[in-house]
Amino acid sequence: MKQRVEVKDILLGQRRAVAKAITLIESINTDDMKEAEILLEQILPLSGKSVRVGITGVPGVGKSTFIEAYGNFLISKGHKVAVLAVDPSSPVTGGSILGDKTRMEKLSQAENAFIRPTPSSGFLGGVAQKTRESILLLEAAGFDYILVETVGVGQSEIEVANMVDFFLVLMLPNAGDELQGIKKGILELSDLMVINKSDGDYVNKAMQSMAQYRSAIDLFRHKEFWKTDVMTCSAINNENIDTIYYKIAEYIKLSKDCGHFEKVRMEQQLNWFKHLVNELLELRISSNKKLKTKKLELEAQIKSNKILALTAARQFVDSFLIKSEK
Ligand code: GDP
Repeated sequence: MKQRVEVKDILLGQRRAVAKAITLIESINTDDMKEAEILLEQILPLSGKSVRVGITGVPGVGKSTFIEAYGNFLISKGHKVAVLAVDPSSPVTGGSILGDKTRMEKLSQAENAFIRPTPSSGFLGGVAQKTRESILLLEAAGFDYILVETVGVGQSEIEVANMVDFFLVLMLPNAGDELQGIKKGILELSDLMVINKSDGDYVNKAMQSMAQYRSAIDLFRHKEFWKTDVMTCSAINNENIDTIYYKIAEYIKLSKDCGHFEKVRMEQQLNWFKHLVNELLELRISSNKKLKTKKLELEAQIKSNKILALTAARQFVDSFLIKSEK
């Protein structure tokens, strides 16, 4: 099969080739997926050289406004910026909300920016797998800042935190409500919290929120080289975006200097491998007639109390693994 996308075009950062390759990555057509995999294997050694920043927050907090401001600032500093979105909680509507170009007007027209909305689905690994693969491709194409946007309402922010180097949580300037709205676990994952909309009548509230969050995060477990901080900004007025840029850059430098950066990337890959093995196993089992029947039989025995769940699980796994152990 002739490859429809040339590796050299990707490495040259040719937009059309990059867009086409991502379409192959996001496709659920078997031929497309095969070609995407071959392509990804070829570019893999050339990927990895970017800063991956996850950005989350409730709908309306200002994610796209912030990405527009931060993205344009990054470009002014000479970076190439890609914006991807993950929203597995609503695969159908997600594509029309997150990473929508109309929401990032200036950035979407910048030559050094590439914006891609949420892929609508995906087999193995779901949307998160597609996003991980797109990250690799964009890195090989020379994008050195990859921003991954997600809505902070479900499971997706944890998925995103597990694929980025830096995780930023955007918040609204009303601490009381917000502390209840955002799950504590998510705040604990953050490397930086930013209270957006700190402008006009909201400035005082934003300052109060900052103080409240600062005392709240004292209780968190921090990394040895980094203490999560709380900052304010006004994305719409481009205020404090530069400070946030330097803060993130500082984190990346410290993280690289102490070996944390590489270690986490490696762990992320290994965890993802583990996740995929489990998912692939389930997929293969459910598409294998014999195993499916065996599983149903064992489940019936469990339901009628004829077999211990543990014994059943052992019997089941033995039925397809015992051969490979000989
Ligand atoms: P998203 O849903 O998190 O992506 O939020 P949007 O970026 O679409 O912003 C939601 C609304 O908040 C829009 O009306 C924005 O104009 C407004 N907004 C975003 N950032 C700011 C800000 O810094 N200050 C103020 N006052 N409004 C903002």
